[in-house]
Amino acid sequence: MRQLFSNFQVGLPTGSIYERPNQGVRRRNANFESVLRELKSRGISTIETHHDFPDPEVILEMFPNASYHLTRRAKVAGAHNALKYGYTRIIAHPDYITDINPWKDIGKHLLIENMDHLDPQWRSAGALSTLLEKLPDAGVCLDLAHAIDKPSLLDGIISIYGSRIREIHLGEINRRNGHHLSTISKQSTAHCISFLHKVEQGTPIIFELALGASWKESISTVESFAEEYSC
Ligand SMILES: [Zn+2]
Ligand SMILES: [Zn+2]
Repeated sequence: MRQLFSNFQVGLPTGSIYERPNQGVRRRNANFESVLRELKSRGISTIETHHDFPDPEVILEMFPNASYHLTRRAKVAGAHNALKYGYTRIIAHPDYITDINPWKDIGKHLLIENMDHLDPQWRSAGALSTLLEKLPDAGVCLDLAHAIDKPSLLDGIISIYGSRIREIHLGEINRRNGHHLSTISKQSTAHCISFLHKVEQGTPIIFELALGASWKESISTVESFAEEYSC
């Protein structure tokens, strides 16, 4: 039984649906729509698209609850564009938000993400509170891979901002460069599962995997994780 798929909305990022995104070639697979349909039939119920990927409307048509990850370049104008498309979860890294005021208009649709060890000033609940207190409607995107090396950081965020967590990122990163891996080790899987038991069931989970991973590799990583979750 794939319990994970019944307890949570499970999704993949557009990086695993487009051809060779790591080489700067971000174009649709010839069978793009059939890949989306195949993912849906295998239990994927949400997608995270990145600001610099094409076709945000196509994604939203098939996955109305998809999320939109901004880039530093996108700034707040990118968030307004995402709102116009109809995205309801718009992810920003804390350092994208330099002037708070223009971000207030994004309201509850803005989700601020905790960062990894390469961005040490934005890892704890205390650090995130400098933004979250001034943006009372904004939510949290909890990236487990970003803090799996220091579980106390995740516990701190969950205990203070648990009710504001509206998206979870899951995966494993290369500690040296922060890049995502295409698989998740047994140990990280166990860690992630222990945190999934602490967050609200039903929260969308995005498996952030290596940009170069194909959708077939990505879905098999998700399925292996789901098997462990249901054990
Ligand atoms: Zn991010
Ligand atoms: Zn993330």
